[in-house]
Amino acid sequence: MSTQEAYERLRHIAMENHCDIFGVADMTPAFPLFTSEEKSYLTRFPKGISFGMHFVDSLVDAIAEDVDNISAQHAFVDYIYYTLGRWLDDVGVLIARELTRLGAAAYPLYHFAFPVSPTMYGAVSHKMIAHLAGLGFIGKNCLLVNATYGPRLWLGSVLTDAELPTGLPIARGRECEECMECIRRCPVNALNDVPFRVEEPRDKRFNAMVCAGYFAERGKKGFPNYEMNCSLCMAVCPYGQRAARNIVSAPTT
Ligand code: SF4
Ligand code: SF4
Repeated sequence: MSTQEAYERLRHIAMENHCDIFGVADMTPAFPLFTSEEKSYLTRFPKGISFGMHFVDSLVDAIAEDVDNISAQHAFVDYIYYTLGRWLDDVGVLIARELTRLGAAAYPLYHFAFPVSPTMYGAVSHKMIAHLAGLGFIGKNCLLVNATYGPRLWLGSVLTDAELPTGLPIARGRECEECMECIRRCPVNALNDVPFRVEEPRDKRFNAMVCAGYFAERGKKGFPNYEMNCSLCMAVCPYGQRAARNIVSAPTT
């Protein structure tokens, strides 16, 4: 089987399971981040398969309209935790099974592997893999911004040593360069307006502990507190809002 045929087989698994985006990343630019003993294992996998599902827009729009709407926050967090995260974990297992059949090693990256790290870091960033796969740029909100769906996506990933064709990272869009909406609206100033560079740790761009402190505080007032953030920086992004209105246009680069 050619590498392109293998790619198409894997893509088909994602798409027939209701994913909206699929791509493969060359992971080697991210290897300098995997220096700890625990993460050096990940350098066995030079490719990262990325797939994702578009959020139900009404759930996101309700947050954009009123970030203090407790009911809307619970609806969105339950949707992420109990539906999308589990669903994409299952898609990852199906892709990993297929890679095994093809004779390759596969390492699915699960969501919500508890306990959540005190540093708020997962093993590898799903967003970074999607970016390296060419599925979008990393916006000022530190999220993947896709040409069709903006940041309104939940992502899954599988690392592998399979030979597969890879995409190319996309530069930040001009509209994002000129916009400050997510930074301006963040209630705790957790976003630093520092451009994404794959070799730099996330802390340069985003103060995850400040963001986490905010939702821990809100958890005491009845908001969901599943180590989940308020999502306003995602909900207000014009790329995603345009997609929700079906005025879909690719980000200007
Ligand atoms: S809200 Fe504006 S600045 Fe933030 S990611 Fe979206 S386009 Fe970029
Ligand atoms: S999730 Fe909320 S608190 Fe965290 S960075 Fe985004 S807007 Fe700020």
